[in-house]
Amino acid sequence: MSFASLGLHPELLSAIAEQPEYKRPYPIQSKVIPAVLKGRDVIAIARTGSGKTASFILPLLQLIHCRDAGERRRLSALILVPTRELAAQIEEVAKQLGGHLKPRVKTGAVFGGVAINPQMILLKGIELLIATPGRLIELVAQNSVQLSSVATLVLDEADRLYAEDFQEELQQILALLPSKRQNLLFSATFPPEVERLAASLLTDPMRIEI
Ligand code: AMP
Repeated sequence: MSFASLGLHPELLSAIAEQPEYKRPYPIQSKVIPAVLKGRDVIAIARTGSGKTASFILPLLQLIHCRDAGERRRLSALILVPTRELAAQIEEVAKQLGGHLKPRVKTGAVFGGVAINPQMILLKGIELLIATPGRLIELVAQNSVQLSSVATLVLDEADRLYAEDFQEELQQILALLPSKRQNLLFSATFPPEVERLAASLLTDPMRIEI
């Protein structure tokens, strides 16, 4: 199995080739990448280290890249995460793997604990956004970002979103998203609250446990 056989764009393949550690797709990537490219919902029970980040970043970059010019420069993919460290890590992966796309996919991360003003500026024309729930709600309240164009929602480390007490913010954000959208849920563990969330969020998901 190669990355090329997963249907990825040549500009993504050349960025992957620049990463010395990425030789072959990890199992999660072989399954999740084609499913996301087809528009399916996905639930993946997977820990950090499984390769989960690239399994959603690569197809999200491709889906955005393949949009018509008229549909670019608006928020297409929203990745919700429980911590600023995770947000920063995912942004780094997105920038590395998206580095060869022309035009590039405008990517950014927003999280609490730092000044909000630079984040408001960064959101102009944003296409792929990684966010912690509380700061995202603040930015929405200030009209710095609109969620009505989101085509794909990713919940990363969904169990930790609950552990960090983000369920209320999560519900507020879900209410602002278009009801017709693709949903991807990643979680290291699958406690009853994540099971309930998955049942309410996902439509006929592809399920993978690593
Ligand atoms: P993650 O589970 O997304 O936190 O990724 C864990 C680590 O695996 C990261 O350091 C990635 O650079 C690395 N990685 C991701 N995919 C691959 C791959 N296909 N081959 C080798 N390393 C990978």
